[in-house]
Amino acid sequence: MLNGIPRSCHLLVALLLSVGMEAAVAFNPPLSSMLNRREAISDLVTKTLQYTGITQIPILTGRQTAAPMRNLVVFDFDHTLIGVDSDEHVLGLSSDKDAAKRRLAEAGAAKRWCEGFASELECLQREGVTMDRIKEALVEIKVDEELKETIHRLGNLDGVELRILSDANNWFISTVLQSNGLDKYITKIVSNVAEVDGGFLHVKPYHTSPHPEGSSSPANLCKGRVMRSWLDEVRWDQVVYCGDGPGDFEGAVNVPLNGKILARKDWPLHRLLERSKEVKMAQVLPWQDHKELARLLSKNVEMPVLAMQRKQWDLAGSRSLRWHEEGKAVRVMT
Ligand SMILES: [Mg+2]
Repeated sequence: MLNGIPRSCHLLVALLLSVGMEAAVAFNPPLSSMLNRREAISDLVTKTLQYTGITQIPILTGRQTAAPMRNLVVFDFDHTLIGVDSDEHVLGLSSDKDAAKRRLAEAGAAKRWCEGFASELECLQREGVTMDRIKEALVEIKVDEELKETIHRLGNLDGVELRILSDANNWFISTVLQSNGLDKYITKIVSNVAEVDGGFLHVKPYHTSPHPEGSSSPANLCKGRVMRSWLDEVRWDQVVYCGDGPGDFEGAVNVPLNGKILARKDWPLHRLLERSKEVKMAQVLPWQDHKELARLLSKNVEMPVLAMQRKQWDLAGSRSLRWHEEGKAVRVMT
């Protein structure tokens, strides 16, 4: 259709077609009743832009008002986002790592993991292990490549927010995220507090006030309490929780019923959920390894958002307009 028209004029043609189509639909009641007006215009402009190869245009009016979808994806960190426990990994630097890990496990069994690790971390540093050496150990932790790619794609989608809720600490988590190039995709980290004092790294509890009645979480962090505060922030269209451990249980059962719980198969969270059939909860989807976790995230978060975005012209908020074709995002700037 545009053969023979200079490429510089293609944008003008696309815009004229979109305005013309909108006018035709607006002044033709039968057609208007038959067609979804926004979809008709969107499809026409999309096809024209695809034909011309234009990926950026400078203007479009603000008549499209569909609200962006809001998806919250929550990751536990140890053994969920990464394949190891970061606290235990760092204790591998101890001169007697078996004893250090045994003491930490005993503390965990008594719901005092945070205090136990704070004590082991202090011993470790008194042995002469510096923060630089601890950082080097953390940088060794690699996130699975397929999961990393999925996080890149999810993080680039409008309306998807990725957060971490973990019983590790914010310094360990930030260090691992940065070294894996994931820090810019994670919008919030809630974890125990790491502070440097006198050249030593100290870990302190995240929660310092008592948990609400009914919580069975350790005093330092109640994931259910954090999840409820996140759910109160906005109206999320979908919430997905990824976890593995017993500390994830209260976070997971707070996922709204239309959400998903991605539980590491046959690990404590999964077993607890299986034993709690009487609790009304979101659908539980087990995953065996990080590649399966990545595929579940793609299927349950990425694909629904892409399908929605493909149908909507969204000029709300960011005033950026996107559409997606075969999984590839193309941004149209306003
Ligand atoms: Mg975990």
